[in-house]
Amino acid sequence: MTRSSHCPYCALQCAMSLTPAGARIEVAGRDFPTNRGGLCKKGWTSAEVLDTTDRVTRPLRRVDGGFEEVSWAEALDDIARRLRDIRSSHGADAVGVFGGGGLTNEKAYQLGKFARIALGTSRIDYNGRFCMSSAAAAGNRAFGVDRGLPFPVEDLDDARTILLLGSNVAATMPPFIGHLAGARAAGGLVVVDPRRSETARLTEDGGGIHVQPAPGTDLVVLLGLTHVVLAEGLADSAYLAERTVGLDELRREVNRWWPERVQEVTGVPAAQLRQVARRLAEGRAFILTGRGVEQHVDGTDTATAAINLALVLGLPGRVEGGRAVSGYGTLTGQGNGQGGREHGQKADQLPGYRKITDPAAREHVASVWGVPPESIPGPGVPAVELLGMLGREVKALLVHGSNVVVSAPDAAAVTRALDELDLLVVCDFVPSETALLADYILPVTQWAEEEGTMTSLEGRVLRRRRAIDPPAEARSELWVMRELARRLDAPGTWSTDAAEVFDELARASAGGIADYSGLSHARLDEGVAAFWPYPAGSAGTPRLFEDRFAHPDGLARLVAVIPRLREPGAQRGGELTLVTGRLLEHYQSGAQTRRVPELVTARPEAALQIHPATASRLGIASGDLVEITSPRGVTRARAEVTSGIRHDTVFLPFHFPGAERANTLTEAAVDPVSAMPEFKRTLVSVARVEEVPA
Ligand code: SF4
Repeated sequence: MTRSSHCPYCALQCAMSLTPAGARIEVAGRDFPTNRGGLCKKGWTSAEVLDTTDRVTRPLRRVDGGFEEVSWAEALDDIARRLRDIRSSHGADAVGVFGGGGLTNEKAYQLGKFARIALGTSRIDYNGRFCMSSAAAAGNRAFGVDRGLPFPVEDLDDARTILLLGSNVAATMPPFIGHLAGARAAGGLVVVDPRRSETARLTEDGGGIHVQPAPGTDLVVLLGLTHVVLAEGLADSAYLAERTVGLDELRREVNRWWPERVQEVTGVPAAQLRQVARRLAEGRAFILTGRGVEQHVDGTDTATAAINLALVLGLPGRVEGGRAVSGYGTLTGQGNGQGGREHGQKADQLPGYRKITDPAAREHVASVWGVPPESIPGPGVPAVELLGMLGREVKALLVHGSNVVVSAPDAAAVTRALDELDLLVVCDFVPSETALLADYILPVTQWAEEEGTMTSLEGRVLRRRRAIDPPAEARSELWVMRELARRLDAPGTWSTDAAEVFDELARASAGGIADYSGLSHARLDEGVAAFWPYPAGSAGTPRLFEDRFAHPDGLARLVAVIPRLREPGAQRGGELTLVTGRLLEHYQSGAQTRRVPELVTARPEAALQIHPATASRLGIASGDLVEITSPRGVTRARAEVTSGIRHDTVFLPFHFPGAERANTLTEAAVDPVSAMPEFKRTLVSVARVEEVPA
């Protein structure tokens, strides 16, 4: 029977039909507002990973020189015994939990609960910290709520202008390009990227403008645009007066960023800044940010500056004829990057996007969990700090849906720290680079093999449905958590039924910012467009901010932000700035897509993009093997000489492990507000390597 589901990869959550064909399933695109039947090549080939030849199909225990198969009972008994020993020797916080933005809402919810009341640890965080936390922090402080797009994605179709900052959607989520068509036709797609990325190239047919600032200067570009809007009288004064606070301080800060000064810092011509600002002020404009401007030590402030610009222009919350005609949003990356940060796997949050420090929130969630509020630990530490504690304060780590050996900053240090643990347990379905370091690898079910829900980049809750049977010995992570909770004598109930877990999640979220209490699997199966907040008795909220923002007074906050420009020489490293990012063919750490033959054939290895003038100066030609060096290590890749990148910048995808691992080079420096790492600005040197003929 054909089942309706959604792609396992990115946050666009393209709709699919899954049809069993023997032991395999056939994937087809399904008409849906986000993808209109389209899929990218990752989506088309997604089912191939399910029967990859090295799929983990039985629990594996580390032995000398490799792994041996063990029974579930043996594995879980031993893991529970070792967790008890570690807790009694070092305290409950000596056990860490690392989740993932690809987990279903049900698993993310249960993982947060499991950490807090089965393990008793505060030390849980997840890989969404690497990709969404700065935009989330900026949204929370400006609007009082963090939902990636506060409007359905199809509202973008009628835009006249779209300012897209630091997002290469043409490679990362190709069906999304369809929603840029209106702006392109109107000559209003503005792409801000130091590279002439696939998305920046969409502007070349006269359909827009490519703004190419120096890496790490996006905040200054945004201050300059806001300066022009205010200086030229393009601001929406009535909107600012009625719907915002903080204009005076903002005006004082942006006054000092006139276009010619911005040009000096960023390399963006003053005339181009004025052109973009005037275009945005003509109406029907949207501003969208992505990881390119957010994965910096000033990522929260940069996203804040983008929101300030949108507010000064009066864009958010403007709805006409039932559609948002302008606005601000951020393009979430991972499949459940949105839902994953709403239900409790973030160090400082409880389900429903509640603060773990809020006594009322603790009381409400404790009543759902059937435990005393004081038994719920306080806030933990964010992901990079948690990884920095491995082998020291944290002796055991449980990993769900994450491959930190490839995806974490300063990955060589993380790899060494994982080796120092007394116990590493990884739930996965392939032997990822992180799983290969584990004491136990527990085989878990995947996307087309299970029921559940995901929440897309628009805050739309979606049903994932089981289309085929998993391998006989694979188990849902819900089952793994229940079995461990039982062995640890945990309080509360631990259902393995995704619909029941969703019902509990809905109760726990009731009254919170991300309220799912009006939803259930059955309700979603009716095909409702389920945008949160969706309190019981409501019809959900496709568009936020039409009447008020989520702060108690209903007003948005303009938050003045100041660039913390680094002095030349303040950061150690070489003369070139490395930007890391994604390719069309691969997803995140590549653990899944590197197992799909078609994708590997198309992109078998990392390539370093480098400008022709820089390459020539360094004696490098396309195809040469090069070494990229930062203070943290050395990575190798083939050179791809291209004029589509600034002469002072190089680009390396982060999907590849081992000698090609981009995150060997990156630094564990984080944004002070969001704790998000800086993946987009690493100083490196590049040199050609002599290859010895085989
Ligand atoms: Fe759609 Fe993203 Fe899946 Fe590609 S990876 S098919 S864009 S959801």
